[in-house]
Amino acid sequence: MRRFYFDHNATTPVSQPVLEVLVSALLEVPGNASSIHQDGQLAKQRLEAARREMAALLGCEPKELVFTSGGTEADNLAILGSVQANGSPHKHVITTAIEHPAVLNPCRELERTGMDVTYVRPASDGLIDPDDIRRALKPETMLVSVMHANNETGTLQPIAEISALAHEAGALMHSDGVQAAGKIPVDVEALGVDLYSISGHKFYAPKGIGALYVKNGTKLRPIQFGGKHERERRPGTENVPSAVAMEKAAAFARDTLPIETARLEALRDRLETGILARVPDSGVNGAGERTPNTTNIYFDGLEGEALVISLDLKGFAVSSGSACSSGAVEPSHVLLAMGLAPERARASLRFSLGASNNAEQVDALIDAVVQSAAQLRKLSPTYTSA
Ligand code: PLP
Repeated sequence: MRRFYFDHNATTPVSQPVLEVLVSALLEVPGNASSIHQDGQLAKQRLEAARREMAALLGCEPKELVFTSGGTEADNLAILGSVQANGSPHKHVITTAIEHPAVLNPCRELERTGMDVTYVRPASDGLIDPDDIRRALKPETMLVSVMHANNETGTLQPIAEISALAHEAGALMHSDGVQAAGKIPVDVEALGVDLYSISGHKFYAPKGIGALYVKNGTKLRPIQFGGKHERERRPGTENVPSAVAMEKAAAFARDTLPIETARLEALRDRLETGILARVPDSGVNGAGERTPNTTNIYFDGLEGEALVISLDLKGFAVSSGSACSSGAVEPSHVLLAMGLAPERARASLRFSLGASNNAEQVDALIDAVVQSAAQLRKLSPTYTSA
């Protein structure tokens, strides 16, 4: 059966050019970037070229980038590493209730060690109000961490405004840019952040490579201990082939961004309009500026998981924001924080588009959603209206 992938916020497949660069780097750049012989020097040169391209993607200096194993590590390093370097006597961190677990869980870890953490909630449109950040700031606040783009709704947060507030209060500013980099133009200087996390597998690079932007002068302690790699911020033999593959993916993203943004936005709007016109009691979760490829839609009276499975059987990969914990399906913490009733949050799906999608696939997905929603609603004990 033909399969169509609409889950690019979960991960993207490596593109053919990225795959070719990866394989050739694996075969032709076998050295360790710390070795002084020629093989080592070649690896080092390739690593630094990759760092320059990644810096161009984010608008920073190459030496401000630390390669990591992905977004989760970059977030952990930003939060735990900056708290360890700057924590005392500051004892307060601000983040939001809609962050990815890669930010929420290091913050919960900080709470276990006695740090005070404030989780600012969004408005019903998914936006964090800078005034709520302002109200949460205290003299003891050392770090504010607010994601750039939400993984479930695509909502873009007013990072520049929040950074300015954090700095006025003497705090550092981190943003999780995992769902933004490669999808929208990012300029860390314009955003005013001190720390910014990215992940390669969200923009067609392999899984297991990412980076943390650390603004010059920002104090950061490593959170793992070993060799003196990455300016003593992240030990471990560098993953040169994956860094080189991410360089290729970043260059492609930079070259194609304006055209791809317009194309994906048009497809996303076509999907949204098509579903909303043909499926009664459905609607979009969140509002305001979003990443061009993402929409989150509720289907009242349905279980998101059942709809995901039904669409999967028809050949479409989509996602529900719910998480399985202790055997029970928990509604998305993002949608709950936006004030959705648990039943509506459970009845929501995320569609995230990408390079392989086209209008024909979108139309086929709309038909499949219309069919699946009607079939499942017939069996739903809670769905009454139509
Ligand atoms: N932050 C956000 C917003 C994400 O969407 C993800 C992955 O889904 C991560 C962090 C974690 O990134 P990685 O999978 O590279 O560890």
